Amino acid sequence: MALRSVIPLLEPFLGGNERKYIEEALSANQPSVGPFVERFEHAFAEYVGSKHAVAVSSGTAALHLALRVLEVGPGDEVLAPTFSFVATVNPILYVGATPVLVDAEPTTWGMDPEKVRAGLVRRPKAIVVAHLYGHPASLDVETLQATFSVPVIEDASESLGATVDDRRVGTFGKIGCFSFNGNKIITTGQGGMLVTDDYALAERARHLRAQARLPGPEYVHNEVGFNYRMPNLAAAMGLAQLEQLPEFLERKRETAAYYDGALFPNTGLSPWWSRPPWAVPSRWLYSIQVPDPEGLRRALAAEGIESRRLWMPMHWMATYSGLRVIGGEVAERLHAHGLSLPSSVGLTAAQQGQVVQCVKKFLDRRESLPA
Ligand SMILES: *Cc1c(COP(=O)(O)O)cnc(C)c1O
Repeated sequence: MALRSVIPLLEPFLGGNERKYIEEALSANQPSVGPFVERFEHAFAEYVGSKHAVAVSSGTAALHLALRVLEVGPGDEVLAPTFSFVATVNPILYVGATPVLVDAEPTTWGMDPEKVRAGLVRRPKAIVVAHLYGHPASLDVETLQATFSVPVIEDASESLGATVDDRRVGTFGKIGCFSFNGNKIITTGQGGMLVTDDYALAERARHLRAQARLPGPEYVHNEVGFNYRMPNLAAAMGLAQLEQLPEFLERKRETAAYYDGALFPNTGLSPWWSRPPWAVPSRWLYSIQVPDPEGLRRALAAEGIESRRLWMPMHWMATYSGLRVIGGEVAERLHAHGLSLPSSVGLTAAQQGQVVQCVKKFLDRRESLPA
């Protein structure tokens, strides 16, 4: 029988108006189409500082629509990170374009700007940059867009609330995409959001998310669209979650500060976060680098503590191994040494202490082994 995880890696925190709003949607008999969708969209756009927000059924759907509305298709190349969750890259394949995988940069883990520049030589149709583990990527998105006139899509799924120069990630590129999957900083069960300042792009995304149906009493569709709407029930939950986001971010940063203080410098671990002065990360998933992350993962699991290796580089997986990759060693190193520790908003001080004790015990044991 599987041991039930005592301390999960990430679990949702439903501490606000979730039940109240969902009850409202149910009482109005509006589980599917209803007013919470627009309310959530408006509140979200205002929070991130974007003109338009389009709620969809997942972060993956948001990325897929982003590529579609930017007219990316067969024959086009798109630069994307090799170090990320597969959902950053899969939508490029959905539209029939060719991803060119770009290595990470060691301090922020986002795509390496130098290697992106190398990929620009072949005039890609778009760039998908991911802000990973809560940290903004170091790529200067606006300058890049202006200089090379190539649209940038920001995959901000893991970094809602993180800022660069006091502006929220997801608002620098032509389009920003977010995920509300169960392990993201706010959740709708499953869901996503596309944001943009471009009215025409937002309208096109709205059209495509609802099967490309034209207004009118009949079901007339002027192209092949998608069923990517966010249901009213999910939006009700999303709105309640968004109201708590500032508090969630505060809690995440407190947890990260505790881990930092407890794990460095007296354990021989070297801190990984560079904390460049221009960024305020959201600390979505607190991660450390250790010589043997798999050993530590098992040691934690034996005590009911869930942890997770950092993303495996895309170019290591058979499905994507045929793709061109620029560099790749940094992504491989991140995977070889990185481990994420429990980072739920609701993680108690006692649980944090338990995690730290277990990490220290593992490191001590290793050190006492004969060389
Ligand atoms: C979670 C995530 C997504 C989108 O995931 P969905 O489950 O489709 O909402 C995309 N990119 C990254 C980097 C993610 O972590």
